[in-house]
Amino acid sequence: MKLQIVKCRCGSCGFEFNVPQIRSGSYGEFLLRGKSINSVAYLDAMGDKTYDEVDRLIKSDSRMSGKSANVLAGVLRKSYGSIACDSDSEGSVFQIGAFPACPSCGLQSVDYWEVVEPPEFIDIEVPPVTHMVWQSLSESEKKQKVGQVLSSLGY
Ligand SMILES: [Zn+2]
Repeated sequence: MKLQIVKCRCGSCGFEFNVPQIRSGSYGEFLLRGKSINSVAYLDAMGDKTYDEVDRLIKSDSRMSGKSANVLAGVLRKSYGSIACDSDSEGSVFQIGAFPACPSCGLQSVDYWEVVEPPEFIDIEVPPVTHMVWQSLSESEKKQKVGQVLSSLGY
């Protein structure tokens, strides 16, 4: 898939490095990343029914009642990878929109990014996220998992 190069800056040590990101305006398409710079996976949220499923389960959690659509969308993006996606080959959790760990200091704390000008693109193979663990869960186990991840986010 064709990705756009963005320059990001580590909030911890200030090191700048380039990573490929999904092009802006790609509706319903997300990249998920784990910690390592090569750990990346793709989600087509329109075609992957777990995205709607997790959305529904989050909204049905009592701690989410009364939250705005904006907040709920943010919670979904932040928690979806931990809830429904298998970890990467190193056991690191995938997160939508996450940046990889800084190649210089190793912390995952990008605090600023911008597209490279003039625009640069790269065409690379990105594997889709998988849901083997999630799909092996019962409905009540899925609710429990959603609850645990919401707790870990401080809800
Ligand atoms: Zn750093």
